[in-house]
Amino acid sequence: MARYGLLIDYEYCTGCHSCEVACQMEHNLPVGKFGIQLAEIGPWQIEGDKWQYAYIPVPTDLCDLCGKRLAKGKLPSCVHHCQANVMKFGKVEDLAKEMEGKSHMVLFTPK
Ligand code: SF4
Ligand code: SF4
Repeated sequence: MARYGLLIDYEYCTGCHSCEVACQMEHNLPVGKFGIQLAEIGPWQIEGDKWQYAYIPVPTDLCDLCGKRLAKGKLPSCVHHCQANVMKFGKVEDLAKEMEGKSHMVLFTPK
């Protein structure tokens, strides 16, 4: 059976939090609970003019890949609302191929 997941190209994530809010709204999550939560890494200096600074959206154990939306032929809410278009839903094997030769990507597969 095919496994599905989320591919996140966080190099271009703007840190807008739309994915967090879209997920909370879709699942009626209370304040403080998240299906996906934005992590901010840095800024801190690596060396010289090189700095570490990144936003990385991290799906949590509450993520169900928006099964109810998928059943209606819709995309997961976070993917639909990401205006930077850095999130993609699909089969894990297809998403893994898209990672080849790229950096700053993470692939999430729920339990
Ligand atoms: S796929 Fe759905 S449940 Fe998972 S993080 Fe995105 S909006 Fe939340
Ligand atoms: S909606 Fe897209 S750009 Fe905004 S924080 Fe989430 S992944 Fe990043």
